[in-house]
Amino acid sequence: MPDTALDSDSSMPLNFSFEKLFAGKWIAGAHMEDAIDRARRLNRHGIGTILNYLGEDFKDKKDTQDAVSTYISLIKKIHDGNVRADIAVKPTQIGLSISYMYAAKNYSAILEYARKNGVFVWLDMESHRYVEDTIKLYLEHLSSHKKKDTGICIQSYLRRSRRDISKIVKRNGVIRLVKGAYKESDSIAYANRAEVTENYSKLMKYLFAHADRFTIATHDMKMIELALSLDRSMHKDMTLAMLNGIRNRYALSIAKKENVYIYVPFGSRWVDYSIRRLRELSNAVIIVRSLFSR
Ligand SMILES: Cc1cc2nc3c(=O)[nH]c(=O)nc-3n(C[C@H](O)[C@H](O)[C@H](O)COP(=O)(O)OP(=O)(O)OC[C@H]3O[C@@H](n4cnc5c(N)ncnc54)[C@H](O)[C@@H]3O)c2cc1C
Repeated sequence: MPDTALDSDSSMPLNFSFEKLFAGKWIAGAHMEDAIDRARRLNRHGIGTILNYLGEDFKDKKDTQDAVSTYISLIKKIHDGNVRADIAVKPTQIGLSISYMYAAKNYSAILEYARKNGVFVWLDMESHRYVEDTIKLYLEHLSSHKKKDTGICIQSYLRRSRRDISKIVKRNGVIRLVKGAYKESDSIAYANRAEVTENYSKLMKYLFAHADRFTIATHDMKMIELALSLDRSMHKDMTLAMLNGIRNRYALSIAKKENVYIYVPFGSRWVDYSIRRLRELSNAVIIVRSLFSR
């Protein structure tokens, strides 16, 4: 398996060993070109990409405008360079923590340009405070065309997600199913990892039964195997997706047979994203340790 498709770009200007060790593993680099290069390398191995410009919870309109113009340039680069890449936008990086109307205006601008250039736009899902408005934003902009050009992420740790999924599927929306990466209270989310996974498998089965097109985004091998086995009997437009730096060797190994995407973040605001990955990495280590301890 050629390592060049797996290695992140070493040109990323990270100064401390901690940053190099963790952020460098998960993030393509500080610049848009780093993400495009990584996408091209993955494309050569049959893997599609979802490119995300890092940054979230912006309160300053200057930051949101930087994000919008970066996505516009990114869409142009994807289109002109014939790169197999979607983009993923965080609602609070385009203004959802400033005002709903402001975020809607920015989302429209990105979506309109992406539609003209044939680039698919994902709305990432953030903490529960933004779930209602993110779904509203998505459904208000979902075109009635059969060929969909925008999708939304839904988290299986939220108790409300079954209702949300059915509402979105009824409108023919495209869902990317994840377990969920934010710290949420027990009153709204399943706290126990086993319950989160059980709900993930229920929601996945719901998607196979009722949706035409969706993405199963996880590194959980049991969930991936379940998705592949359901797909063999139900033949849906299902794609698998993983994060840059996690199980990418496995992604490469199945890319000839399966439709696989890797989510590739880039930019200099790497801290929040890396902290979420670090928390998951430490959860994974605790689980492995518990298997070997008495
Ligand atoms: C394409 C994609 C897009 C996503 N978008 C969003 C989003 O918009 N909103 C959101 O809340 N979440 C998002 N996530 C993150 C997701 O919610 C989970 O937090 C993350 O994927 C870990 O959960 P898991 O499904 O891999 O299962 P887990 O049970 O957490 O992990 C399963 C196994 O994967 C491996 N693993 C998981 N994480 C790591 C790690 N950091 N390092 C090394 N190994 C690891 C371990 O072997 C672990 O046992 C996204 C994930 C993917 C793959």
